[in-house]
Amino acid sequence: MNLKVKEIFYSLQGEGGRQGEVSIFVRLSGCNLKCDFCDTDFSGGETMELSQILSVIRQHPCRWIIWTGGEPALQLTDEAVTFFKREGYRQAIESNGYFPLPDLLDYTTVSPKGKPDYAKAVNPSVDEVRLPINKGDAIPGFERLPKAKYYFLSPVFRDDALATKENINYCVEQIMQKPDWRLSMQIHKLINIE
Ligand code: SF4
Repeated sequence: MNLKVKEIFYSLQGEGGRQGEVSIFVRLSGCNLKCDFCDTDFSGGETMELSQILSVIRQHPCRWIIWTGGEPALQLTDEAVTFFKREGYRQAIESNGYFPLPDLLDYTTVSPKGKPDYAKAVNPSVDEVRLPINKGDAIPGFERLPKAKYYFLSPVFRDDALATKENINYCVEQIMQKPDWRLSMQIHKLINIE
């Protein structure tokens, strides 16, 4: 079985419920959306056998894989997840929620971009919902989102420091009013790692 891979890198999970844990990030190519705030190049990439991916990730002293993208659920299947599970890896995914996620994942993050109800219909229950938020964005009610252990608002980081600060302040204001949300800062951007 093959997957089209944009890049594989070893770093800290910078955001959400697993923030600060080391992980091997496997960025799969392609996405179904074109978000205006997207900060990721998911074009191109290399078609790799699962065994080739395994030989790369084995170079790192860590047993967590994060499947990310683009949109990893465009490619990731239960077959692929089972392959790495048998090799002793725990696996997380960062998805926009537009496609059903493989069943055997250990930690699921859905970040619905603009269509929370649709994401809920496709994936009714996940570990974490994380919403990228710009100042003024409407925050959907929990009844419109997948059921989750954690709900995070994640201020969008802009090149303009003032705009970023406004996004952070807005998220804090929202959380103060709706305390079931938590703040997720993208610490990989704050400490300048990949
Ligand atoms: S869903 Fe994610 S990867 Fe795809 S365009 Fe939007 S921000 Fe970028």
